[in-house]
Amino acid sequence: MALRRLLALGAALGRRSCCSKPSLPPDFVEALRAVVGAPNVSTAAAVREQHGHDESMHPCAPPDVVVWPQAVGQVQELAALCHRGRVPMVPFGTGTGLEGGVNAVQGGVCFDLSRMDAIAELSLEDFSVTVEPGVTRKALNKHLRGTGLWFPVVSKA
Ligand SMILES: Cc1cc2nc3c(=O)[nH]c(=O)nc-3n(C[C@H](O)[C@H](O)[C@H](O)COP(=O)(O)OP(=O)(O)OC[C@H]3O[C@@H](n4cnc5c(N)ncnc54)[C@H](O)[C@@H]3O)c2cc1C
Repeated sequence: MALRRLLALGAALGRRSCCSKPSLPPDFVEALRAVVGAPNVSTAAAVREQHGHDESMHPCAPPDVVVWPQAVGQVQELAALCHRGRVPMVPFGTGTGLEGGVNAVQGGVCFDLSRMDAIAELSLEDFSVTVEPGVTRKALNKHLRGTGLWFPVVSKA
């Protein structure tokens, strides 16, 4: 009985989250374009679909819009816009996660961080490196070539 009630509650919540998906505030996409430039904002269905899933089995849940910030300041401005408009934000690396973390179940803005790919600082003495979020393992290893160091496939590489 308890299980049946739990399942009914789950179904009701599922219906509500599906049906109550909020729409974007007026002029919101224009405001995003003003921050990162029009070429770094897309509402194309194919692009949204590509960003609405990872490698997991979860069904695609596309965001309303995808943005490609290229600097920390832009991320801050975009986040402020989302906060003011009560719009969900979903960070996106390469979409290879295995748990559906990039699925935009409430829509919103996908922050594709792949164009923030600078390697800021490398300290060979203490084996530490500071990178932007778009730096991949392979790119880092290319940068490290010749130093005697490498970044192995480890948890969340
Ligand atoms: C074939 C295969 C083998 C794998 N093997 C391993 C393994 O051996 N060990 C292991 O640990 N993992 C493994 N993984 C999983 C691996 O950890 C993920 O692929 C990787 O962490 C996802 O990184 P991503 O940039 O693609 O993130 P995404 O899939 O884009 O995102 C993953 C999650 O992180 C969030 N996110 C993304 N970028 C940021 C950011 N900059 N700031 C905050 N949140 C962010 C997303 O919103 C999402 O919730 C494997 C995956 C695959 C496909």
